[in-house]
Amino acid sequence: MSRVVFVNGRYLPYAQATIHVEDRGYQFADGVYEVCEVRGGRLVDQRRHMDRLTRSLSEISIALPISLRAFGVIMRETIQKNRVRDGLLYLQVTRGVARREHAFPPPDTHPTLVVIARSKDNRKNEISAATGISVITLKDNRWERVDIKTIGLLPNVLARQQAREQGAGEAWFVDSAGYITEGSSSNAWIVTADKTIVTRRAEHGILRGITRTVIFDVVTKLGLKIEERSFKVAEALAAKEAFLTAATQIVMPVVKIDGRSIGNGKPGPVTQALRACFHEVAEIEG
Ligand code: PMP
Repeated sequence: MSRVVFVNGRYLPYAQATIHVEDRGYQFADGVYEVCEVRGGRLVDQRRHMDRLTRSLSEISIALPISLRAFGVIMRETIQKNRVRDGLLYLQVTRGVARREHAFPPPDTHPTLVVIARSKDNRKNEISAATGISVITLKDNRWERVDIKTIGLLPNVLARQQAREQGAGEAWFVDSAGYITEGSSSNAWIVTADKTIVTRRAEHGILRGITRTVIFDVVTKLGLKIEERSFKVAEALAAKEAFLTAATQIVMPVVKIDGRSIGNGKPGPVTQALRACFHEVAEIEG
């Protein structure tokens, strides 16, 4: 079966799906995106992802190109046309095509909309979750508005590559005061000796992850304790457990930070409980 992608109103085979060279996404990274999990052919937490997309668009003054209802139809069709059961859905909106000029193009410029659905072998994720992954820490050199999910991801790309070159699965950014902000494509968490789950407040310095939001409901369901506050690298190194969250990884145990083992060096019980319970709490369509 050939895969198709939605580009500006049409479903096209990949080889024919092209974007204009003067698309502002290409020239300025002038756009935003979302990544949702697809599970059993159904979208996970669609409502929350669309709320965040709407917010990201509004923060950079791009009008919603089509209704949320139409978005829903396109996302579902893209999943179905590609026969994705377990995988992910990628959605990107840019400010559209215009002669290169930094300031916004004329108001009648149409945003460019791309929707991609891709299957993913969940077994790889399960294998990583069974042993846990390593992370490295790096200076956070991103702009201040990381609360907007923009396609401008060069610092994230470079950080992730550095992690890979050092045999780690993720890089955690550290702000100028020594506090961990988040990963290159995930939110960062620790569990303290008294089993309190700790993650940074989402007002500043991080993206408000959808998985992060759902974890708050999972915590309530499991009767666990949670604190929203910043934590330094030293506190993370001394933590009982550490983990990261992202739509594509759900809850991933972190067993090493900068080469040093966390807790007993194995995925911890709190992390595993959150992972096991996640899809009972997430909103799954249908
Ligand atoms: N932070 C960053 C920088 C990310 O790219 C992501 C992944 N989209 C996250 C956090 C986690 O967000 P979510 O749980 O919505 O996938």
